[in-house]
Amino acid sequence: ALEKRIQDLEARQQQYPEVKFLTYKDRKRILVTGGAGFVGSHLVDRLMLQGHEVIVADNFFTGRKRNIEHWIGHENFELINHDIVNPLFIEVDQIYHLASPASPPHYMYNPVKTIKVNSIGTINMLGLARRVRAQLLFASTSEVYGDPEVHPQTESYFGNVNSFGPRACYDESKRVAEAMCYAYAQQEHISIRIARIFNTYGPRMHMNDGRVVSNFVLQALQNESITIYGNGKQTRSFQYVSDLVDGLLALMNSNYSMPMNLGNPDEYTIENFAIKIKELVGSTAALEYHDAVVDDPKQRRPDITLAKSWLNWAPKISLNDGLNKTIEYFHNELRVKHHSERN
Ligand code: NAD
Ligand code: UDP
Repeated sequence: ALEKRIQDLEARQQQYPEVKFLTYKDRKRILVTGGAGFVGSHLVDRLMLQGHEVIVADNFFTGRKRNIEHWIGHENFELINHDIVNPLFIEVDQIYHLASPASPPHYMYNPVKTIKVNSIGTINMLGLARRVRAQLLFASTSEVYGDPEVHPQTESYFGNVNSFGPRACYDESKRVAEAMCYAYAQQEHISIRIARIFNTYGPRMHMNDGRVVSNFVLQALQNESITIYGNGKQTRSFQYVSDLVDGLLALMNSNYSMPMNLGNPDEYTIENFAIKIKELVGSTAALEYHDAVVDDPKQRRPDITLAKSWLNWAPKISLNDGLNKTIEYFHNELRVKHHSERN
């Protein structure tokens, strides 16, 4: 098992050649809530490789143990099966607060719970930050801009969110969580960071996530119809997960405490995005147009001027490269699934 862990580590080191290893005095105790999920597990990999002590708190609602199983047993790693709607009493230096369902089908599955996770859950994490004087980064979202009338979206835009629709449980609870961070920063002098994350994709996305990248790639790979909601003229801009991880680390370790967009400004209509995925997969799947979803934002693209100037950060991975890695991942997942169904 030890040999396997060393091999895994070496493989991961090759994957992240730019990782800086830490001297003992720079090592921190870092809590990642939602660390067994898609983004969280990639962040955990990077923090572990840097040599930090990492504690993951996750209730496995959408996260999976296999996303982080390569760290289980490592002396710097701890996994706590914990629902953040309940308080957590531990000692840490930094908190990356990512726990929350993220895809529309997942956050609409139990809207009341989604609101609790982002409101009560965030209060709990801010309370922890206050008690142990830890720094907290909150994973906010481009959904705080709602169906935006300003394009591209800058951090100074207040947004156009419906407080009463099916997306409200997510959008409004992320907004109140931002407000809570601000209130704790002002009143309790907590050091906070707010990352407004735009659509992110990559390996370890959940197969049944229901988001556009996993849906389209899986449909293309299986030559099933590609399900376009509405006329497909709505736009999104997609960032690869390693770029987001770079941005989250840079933001946490910066001295910027206002909200900051992290996303890739490369914008596509959903229809063109479907065609691109079909081409990369080499699929003959047909495009199938379904009813539009309620309150679906019509356009979305981040203005990342702020991240460029404050963090010297910009996405590095092109859509083609990122999609090819993601396609390879889902291709493999399908093979594993078919294999286990046969046996
Ligand atoms: P994900 O569903 O893969 O990960 C979320 C993780 O949080 C999962 O491991 C889940 O089990 C855990 N979780 C959910 N409720 C919990 C609870 N009550 N207690 C403890 N753990 C809980 O989603 P993701 O794409 O990795 O998103 C991570 C964060 O980034 C979320 O806060 C999401 O809102 C935010 N975000 C993601 C995107 C994106 O495109 N992926 C865009 C904007 C914002
Ligand atoms: N979408 C689609 N077909 C799908 C899944 C999503 O056309 O099978 C569209 C969806 O209506 C939205 C865009 O793709 O306009 C992005 O959806 P996703 O759920 O990935 O994320 P969102 O940005 O809406 O949170």
